[in-house]
Amino acid sequence: MRAKVLITPRSFLKVKEQAQNLLKRYDLDLIYNDTGKTLTEEQMLKMCEDVDGLIVGIDPVTEKVLKNARKLKAISKYGAGLDNIDLKTARELGIKVASAAGTNATSVAELAIGMFFALARNLAKHVFLVKNGGWDRIQGVELTGKTAGIIGLGNIGKEVARLANGIGMRIIAYDPYFEDSEFLKKYDVKMASLESVFKEADFVTLHVPLTEATAKIVNENTLKLMKKTAYIVNTSRGGLIDEDALYEALKNDKIAGAASDVFSKEPPGFHKLLTLDNFLLTPHIGAYTAEAVEKMAIKSIENLVVLLFD
Ligand code: NAD
Repeated sequence: MRAKVLITPRSFLKVKEQAQNLLKRYDLDLIYNDTGKTLTEEQMLKMCEDVDGLIVGIDPVTEKVLKNARKLKAISKYGAGLDNIDLKTARELGIKVASAAGTNATSVAELAIGMFFALARNLAKHVFLVKNGGWDRIQGVELTGKTAGIIGLGNIGKEVARLANGIGMRIIAYDPYFEDSEFLKKYDVKMASLESVFKEADFVTLHVPLTEATAKIVNENTLKLMKKTAYIVNTSRGGLIDEDALYEALKNDKIAGAASDVFSKEPPGFHKLLTLDNFLLTPHIGAYTAEAVEKMAIKSIENLVVLLFD
């Protein structure tokens, strides 16, 4: 019998021929999410009920969804972070999970560095000001010579290091699991404690997965360690930041600014952080480039097929 596979990511339909052809090679019944939105738990519950495989974006794969998906054998993440998947329940039910980590690293890292520049030169404020008839200038700072503090030196963190090195930034990083000394030498990265990264960096950038250990890693205490002139960039997950504490720090000029591509609740609806002009938010666009979309699609298809048929 043909395996039935649900594909939830909205951008999957935009992938180029190569990925579509790859899919055609396998005898699969494909069901796409045509709502144009990330699915809710309720929708996932229904749509996963009788599928054998799942290629999933950031839609919730909760305990309830997994327990109701009686035929599900394999989940292939279209992207890197697995925090939307209840891995413990998947393991208990014998459902295999794979991630396409690495395929979007360059795109996300480029966005993070783009946010460094946007913060350093007040780009959003200046564009808004000029469009509203103004011609005032807010003095910026250079990135060259400043310290980038990378928290999480995995696929994306390493790409940020490579790019920051190219700009001439000093680089310090915190990642207790990192072991590649050749990489550190090549891009002149110094490993440091978490506390030193918060204390010394001009740009703290987050590239850890959202786990119990990393939830609210940016909080009242860690924000207090930062320089008043420093910035925070978060292209990882909203849950890494205590958003109330960040609001207080930004509102009271305890740090200079923050830019984020993610939020604890997406879309955020009204949130007081959005009223601050030293806080920038983009709608989870980190991996949304032509290149990353294609690489994520190909990798997630390859992973799914291995999980289902090997
Ligand atoms: P990765 O697994 O390659 O790297 C994560 C790194 O974090 C690893 O080196 C790991 O050792 C380190 N780490 C884990 N726990 C840690 C801890 N407690 N303290 C310090 N370091 C720790 O993942 P990646 O591909 O680099 O992606 C990182 C995260 O970025 C993902 O988990 C995801 O949440 C997020 N992401 C966001 C977007 C977006 O569109 N904005 C796209 C892709 C990924």
